[in-house]
Amino acid sequence: MGRIIAIANQKGGVGKTTTSINLSSCLADLGKKVLLVDIDPQGNATSGVGIIKQNLENTVYELFLDECTISECLTKSVVDNLNVLPSNVNLSGAEIDLIGVENREYILKNVLDQIKDLYDYIIIDCPPSLNILTVNAMTAADSVIVPIQCEYYALEGLSQLIHTINLIQDRLNNDLEIDGIVFTMYDSRTNLSSDVVENVKSNVHINIYDTVIPRNVRLAEAPSFGLPIHMYDGKSAGAVAYKNLAKEIIK
Ligand code: ADP
Ligand code: MG
Repeated sequence: MGRIIAIANQKGGVGKTTTSINLSSCLADLGKKVLLVDIDPQGNATSGVGIIKQNLENTVYELFLDECTISECLTKSVVDNLNVLPSNVNLSGAEIDLIGVENREYILKNVLDQIKDLYDYIIIDCPPSLNILTVNAMTAADSVIVPIQCEYYALEGLSQLIHTINLIQDRLNNDLEIDGIVFTMYDSRTNLSSDVVENVKSNVHINIYDTVIPRNVRLAEAPSFGLPIHMYDGKSAGAVAYKNLAKEIIK
């Protein structure tokens, strides 16, 4: 049965989408069957694996509102073994549309429970907020991975995120685990990055992945070609790092 992992941090620009795209793609490249679920209205995970998001007839939005079936929403990506439940700007209305809907925290869980058996890993790219969509992701997930950008304000918001995860564990999903923190955009040329890593290690008592994602311009370029990093530049430092992260997660 597939392991469902939410990539979450309510801060924007910390590498959630980059991690979602490239972790799911590297897992698929290692022969796993993977589903990438994009629940950010920006739809960058969707376009990042080669799907033209503007033309989609059915997205996660229609799925949330029960206006399409799962198979109508499932889309192939440029990567073998990687399917997507895509999203686009339509999803930005979901918060309002779901007001008053019964059991609205469980919608994604109910969807994924039906297809969990078909995949080894299901990776959910969360939006940069602790809204009903993120709550749906954490309610559906087995675990959460938290990307943290190696910059000065790295710890800001982390206690709020952990508080939210604890609330979800208490009320909606007793089995939810925190898999760990992944450091992103690590710059080995500055002391700041290593200071941030040390600071988080001594203040936060959750698992930290050995693999650190370096700041690498190829990772920032790849989405504009609709390609994950292993297809855009398989020899880049970013590709090597995400492949190592995928291996660490499989272990
Ligand atoms: P989030 O989903 O948390 O908002 P993104 O993954 O979209 O963050 O990353 C924010 C920006 O930083 C994007 O432009 C992305 O291409 C870039 N980026 C992310 N990770 C790296 C990295 N390791 N090296 C260089 N640029 C990166
Ligand atoms: Mg994002």
